Amino acid sequence: MQNDRGSNPRPGEISLAHCGVLFLDEIAEFPRGVLDVLREPLESGVVNISRASRNAEYPARFQLVAAMNPCPCGHLGDPVKTCRCTAEQVARYQSRISGPLLDRIDLQVQVPAQAARILVSGPDKEPASARVRQQVVAAHELQLQRQGCNNAHLQNNALERHCKLDQASRALLMQAMDKLGLSARAYHRILRVARTIADLQQQSDIQLEHVTEAIGYRRMDTARQAS
Ligand SMILES: [Zn+2]
Repeated sequence: MQNDRGSNPRPGEISLAHCGVLFLDEIAEFPRGVLDVLREPLESGVVNISRASRNAEYPARFQLVAAMNPCPCGHLGDPVKTCRCTAEQVARYQSRISGPLLDRIDLQVQVPAQAARILVSGPDKEPASARVRQQVVAAHELQLQRQGCNNAHLQNNALERHCKLDQASRALLMQAMDKLGLSARAYHRILRVARTIADLQQQSDIQLEHVTEAIGYRRMDTARQAS
């Protein structure tokens, strides 16, 4: 994704997506090496490129959005069409997203196949979309007022201070960590997502339901652990 040609480093797609969205369609089709390059900037917001002549650091704070099929044929879980992939083929396909990369993907959501009518004309839900936008803007303002940054950028002490959990929520999260084999990084990411769900509802404290929902978005971690 960064430009590999020549000895002079130049910003690539990751840096061009700075302050925006990097959308990878069919993410499972990308070479593993390319996907692993995403890990550093997803954590740090910068990307380092070393060349014989010099090193360069480019800004790379982007929102990663990616899509993939549930299996090689694309019909796994489809109520109408039958998936003809073997369990092994499905597992091999899904494992193209490495554990460390999956760890950094906060919202893993399965989207059912849509009717052709919706794909052609778009959803008839503009008013709902406008309402959601208002909710997002309000949640964003709340975060800036409370801590001066987005929840995604909360670190260390600030993260602990603004994402306090009650006993029941903490116990649930610990249980999920064990069951899903999640890392400390995933733990902190779930906290930030739970904080965001609470903010969307204008709630000052993170509740058990927010943590439950945030864990629910770790769908691929759950599937991988079960297989
Ligand atoms: Zn299939």
